[in-house]
Parts: sequence; structure tokens; C-alpha cells
Amino acid sequence: HATKKTMADHLRKYESLFTLTPQRMRMIVEAFTETLEIGLNKPNQIVPMIPTYVFGWPTGQETGDFLALDLGGTNLRVCLVTLQGEGKFEITQTKYRLTEEQKQDDGQKLFDFCAECLKTFVDTNFGERDSALKPGQNLPLGFTFSYPCSQERIDHGELIRWTKGFGAANTEGRDVAEMFKKSLEKYQLPIQLTALINDTTGTLIASHYVNPRTKIAVIFGTGCNAAYMENVKNIEKINHLGIDPAAEMAINCEWGAFDSFEHEHLPRTKYDAIVDDTSNKPGEQAFEKLISGRYLGEILRLVICELIDEGVLFLGQNTYKLEKPYCLDTAFLSLMESDPTDELLMIIGIFTHFFALETTLAERQFFRALAKLIGRRAARLSSCGIAAIVSKMGYLEEGCMVGADGSLYNKYPGFADRVHEGLQDIFGEKGRNIITHHAEDGSGVGSAIIASYDKDQE
Ligand code: ADP
Repeated sequence: HATKKTMADHLRKYESLFTLTPQRMRMIVEAFTETLEIGLNKPNQIVPMIPTYVFGWPTGQETGDFLALDLGGTNLRVCLVTLQGEGKFEITQTKYRLTEEQKQDDGQKLFDFCAECLKTFVDTNFGERDSALKPGQNLPLGFTFSYPCSQERIDHGELIRWTKGFGAANTEGRDVAEMFKKSLEKYQLPIQLTALINDTTGTLIASHYVNPRTKIAVIFGTGCNAAYMENVKNIEKINHLGIDPAAEMAINCEWGAFDSFEHEHLPRTKYDAIVDDTSNKPGEQAFEKLISGRYLGEILRLVICELIDEGVLFLGQNTYKLEKPYCLDTAFLSLMESDPTDELLMIIGIFTHFFALETTLAERQFFRALAKLIGRRAARLSSCGIAAIVSKMGYLEEGCMVGADGSLYNKYPGFADRVHEGLQDIFGEKGRNIITHHAEDGSGVGSAIIASYDKDQE
């Protein structure tokens, strides 16, 4: 009769499901490159390749004081950035907590609150320096507003829809820059909104300011996205605007949407399909769902739950705590992979403390190996996206740097190494020419630099 399968036997099955061969990766890169081009040629594509109206790279010589306001997920952040030229800067910042009510209340009230926080910030941090401001002179402000907006110029943006749990009324479909300007007037602030930007674009510009070899920015956090600098002549869908075709403009790819709906190119396991089906937006953000911090923990949890159902794991124990969707955060995968002990004591801790479950050493080794498979797949898929931009722009020969940010990149052990390894699997030795590095603070510093562009033009 059949002998009982060991954890190592089970692992082999998952290895084949979650492993991406170099050949498969190259096929993904090819489809990805094509998708990027389609997004540039035609409006409203699945990967929308949003024109940002941020023209060209910073020189590194930008100087002056700029304010930056970052309306992100949980906090509102106000920064005073002093650009010192030569790629240097100083930053002073304060965070203000947003309540759940503020996120759902009237939109104008939300912007009034932003203006109020700015006022407090300017009063406390800018007091003595105020004398440096000539009467009638305004401080330039860059507003990092990382929700999908359609823009026609840099200081304007119509909110397409709220994401990340926001739902403030009377805002969708309206020009949020205009609404915010109203709030600035109400508080009589000596501030001029000069740029409305997305965090990915800010990251691109800030990273280039400090390191001019940076050509691409990527974010691996709750979501996953990228930005890069494109030649205006290649952005066919805005040809009619009559912008100088020799100019360059940053593109916010919104690449998390790659392979959405059609599911033709990416290797989806049945666990990925469950994550998608049970998400609030099935079919959407297909690439992001295989990569970003919001989902990796859930993918691991679904594999574990399957083995619980099959009677392989935790026999005789009550597993209800682990059966709750999204209870296993991606930070746990980081911890599992970084456990330095032979006995895997950290993993014992996670399962006893958070899920009231006892584990054997063989199970813990299995969990760690699974985390590694899922984390490695995410990193290798990320390489595919980066490789697509690199191929499209012809950056491989001379090489380039990629500014990267987000908790997954910054905290997941070995994530960057795996991205680099993936790039070499795709491109061979030349893949070594593409190097990721921790990006500068895009929503603060990047926003300030972009605000300075406008000043230079005056
Ligand atoms: P955001 O993208 O919302 O601005 P982050 O870059 O911090 O913020 O990303 C948050 C995501 O990162 C969450 O989905 C969380 O699960 C994940 N995360 C947080 N800490 C870690 C960690 N130590 N290792 C891996 N992922 C993490």
C-alpha cells in the first residue's frame, strides 16, 4: 500500500508550480514589452501608461525651498525640502494621522484638513525663515496624490476613482488640484500648488537627482508599479497635443494591471486564482496580485489551508485562526525566511503566538521553503517588468540603475538579489548591467524637485 508522503514530497509539487524558468521569463518579457507599447499608442488600455506631464530629468542643480504634501494611505505627510544642488537635499517632515471618517467624509473637507496641517507646519517650521519670503512671494508646493488621476498638465488632475480605502464624497471626477487650491486660499497660505504627482514618478525623479544613472523607478509595497522617462515622440496617444516631439516625459506605467482579465501570459496557480476571485476587484491588477505585499502572505495561507483540508497539516489541532483570509501578513514570510536558528524558533513563535498552532521541525522547514518559493517568484516576475522597460528603451548595453522602494523591496530578505538573479536569467551576463538600489523618498523629495521644474520655467 501507498506510503505516507513526507513534507519534502509535498514540497516538490509546489516547487514545480511556483518556479519560473528563464525561458518562461523571456516569454513574459516579450508580451510585457508589447503591452507597454500598446499603452503608449492607444488611450485607455489595460496597462494605461499614464503621461505625467513631468518633462525631463532633473539637472541635479535644482536649489531652493519647496513644500511637499503626501496624501498616502494612513498618514498625511508634510515636508519642507531644501534642495541644495549637486544632488543634495535636506528634509524636515511631520506626519498627521487621518481618521477613517476623514477618508469617507466630504472631499473638500479632506483638502481643508490638508491645508490646515500645512498651516500648522509652516507656522512651526518656517517661522524664522518667513522673513526670507518677499511679500507676495509664494512657496512652491508639490502634491503627491497617489490615486489614479487623468492629467492634461502638471498642476491639474481629475480623480478617476478613489483606491486604498478612501471614499470621500464629491471628489471622483473632479479636479483635485483645483479643490486643493480652494482650501489653500481659505487658509490664506503663501503657497502655490505647482505639481500634482504620483509617488512612482516622484521616486523616479528623486532617485535620478541623487544618482543620474537611475532610469527607472519601481515600487513594491501594498501595490506594485513603475515609472520611467519616455520620448514624447513615442507617446503616440498624445501626439495631437503638439508637444515638442524631442522632449521627454515621465510615464506612470500602472503596470500592476499587466495581464488583467485575459490571464494569458502570467503563470497563475490555483491559489492565485482564488486570491483573484475573492478580491474586491476580480480580474484586475493581475501582475500586482502575484507580486505585491498585500497578497504574498495570502498565497502562502491558501497553500497551507489546502494541506489542512487534505489532512496533511495540524491534524487534531484547531486551525480556525489560520482560516481567516489575509491573517498571514507578508511580513511573516520575511520573518520565516530570515529565521537564523536550526530549530526555526521564529517560525515556532509565529504559529504559536498568532495562530495557536504547534508545528514540527519538518513542517517549519516546509513553510520556510514555501515562503521562499512565493517570495522568489514575486521577485523574478518583478525582473520581467523591469526587463520589459529596459528592452523597450534599449538600456541593456550601457546599463542603468533602478530606484526601488516599498516594504517588500526594503524588508524582504534577498528580494533585491533575486531580482538581480532574474535579470541575469533573462538577459544573460549583460543582466548584471541593470542594478536596483533603494530609492530616495519620492513623495517628499521627488515632489519638491518636480515643483522646482515649474519655478525654473517662470
Ligand atoms: P505602501 O505601499 O502602502 O505605501 P509599504 O511599502 O510599507 O506601504 O507596503 C506595505 C506592504 O508591505 C503590506 O502589504 C505589508 O504586508 C508588506 N510588508 C510590511 N512589512 C513587511 C516585511 N517586513 N516584509 C515583507 N513585506 C512587508
